[in-house]
Amino acid sequence: MNIADKPQSPRCDHKGGKAACRAQSCVLCGKCLEVCPLFAATGREELSPRAKFFLARTIEGQEVEISEKVAVELAAKCLGCGKCEKACPFGLCAPELVSGLKAAHQGLEAKLWQTWVEKAGVLWPMMATLSRLVPRLNTGGYAGLLSGLKAMAPGARLTPWLRPVAYDACGTGRKAVVFPGCVASHVQDHWTASAERILTGLGFTVLPRPDFACCGCTLGHAGLKDAQLSMQRKNLQAWRDAGRPELMSFCATCRCGLRGYASRDLGWQPGEQDLWLQGLAPFAILAARASYEILPGAPERVHYHTPCHGAGGGHDAELLRTAAGDRFQARTHKNLCCGFGGALKLSAPELSDAVAKRCLDFYGPKPGEQILTGCSGCVIQLRANAPAGVSVGHWLEIIGE
Ligand code: SF4
Ligand code: SF4
Repeated sequence: MNIADKPQSPRCDHKGGKAACRAQSCVLCGKCLEVCPLFAATGREELSPRAKFFLARTIEGQEVEISEKVAVELAAKCLGCGKCEKACPFGLCAPELVSGLKAAHQGLEAKLWQTWVEKAGVLWPMMATLSRLVPRLNTGGYAGLLSGLKAMAPGARLTPWLRPVAYDACGTGRKAVVFPGCVASHVQDHWTASAERILTGLGFTVLPRPDFACCGCTLGHAGLKDAQLSMQRKNLQAWRDAGRPELMSFCATCRCGLRGYASRDLGWQPGEQDLWLQGLAPFAILAARASYEILPGAPERVHYHTPCHGAGGGHDAELLRTAAGDRFQARTHKNLCCGFGGALKLSAPELSDAVAKRCLDFYGPKPGEQILTGCSGCVIQLRANAPAGVSVGHWLEIIGE
């Protein structure tokens, strides 16, 4: 089957739903333990999805004696990867549970995360620069995130080693805009430029970039429902103002978040949800409509990290396998995650780093090799934690002009 014809997931990951997430529904069977990256990296049962549902009962006044504060803190330690929902026979969704708990018990972490996302345009480039110039900069609660931002310095980008040699004309007569997401907007603009070049090569009319906000996905995980809704409404309006073109996203987490808009009450007009979803397929499907040649200097071995979110992992890997041949490695495991985890970087950076280390140990890259992925958060996290001599990037970076 051609990659472009592969079926896509019709739904966003772990949308959950309150009824499905009721802690009382959990039968404590432990099937979710096998897939939880946090449990795999730490061996701590109290951080597992099963424990989260158990602790939620405690918070509701049942089960064992434990203070509410401790229970909320423990239960809220979650990467939001959504793997547990897929493994649970009842589809119980820990991220949705955690999001509800955080919304009801908001603390400093939520406020810091909201500022981090809402002020990204000013905060990220400034802090990335300052932290390089002033190594001992007092970064307050953001220390865990700064190592990631430092790793996203412009000089850290990969040198392209694939060149498009032919495109088909699937975009002829179609209008598109790229939704860049926070990371590409503020520190990795070349990802957006690469996506727009591919679209143009395929014959799309690429419209000027609307003033999109964050997709809101991580705000929802942090329990910041109002802030998430406000960003969703802003993005919907920006898309309307652009004339409702096909919306393209090359970040698996953004795409997951954006697809989730269609099932929420955002004041949609008739027919708009279908138009919104039309372009939100894995971007690799479009990139696979071009053919590529490998340039001199390509790494001997390239690893692929499958993002937890979105439906793009399979398509990304297939694109790279076709284009890169034998140098491409796509080993994976059901409980692997980069460990980025959004607000977890603020509350427990040591847990986030432990998950990243386990993930990188699994790939075992050697100096000179590359790790590619299709999610902005995964790039930040893996680039910040990669061993010396190993470069990490979004797969769009390796596609030159
Ligand atoms: S798999 Fe589902 S029912 Fe079983 S312990 Fe995990 S959350 Fe509970
Ligand atoms: S979302 Fe991921 S990290 Fe959180 S409990 Fe589920 S499997 Fe574990």
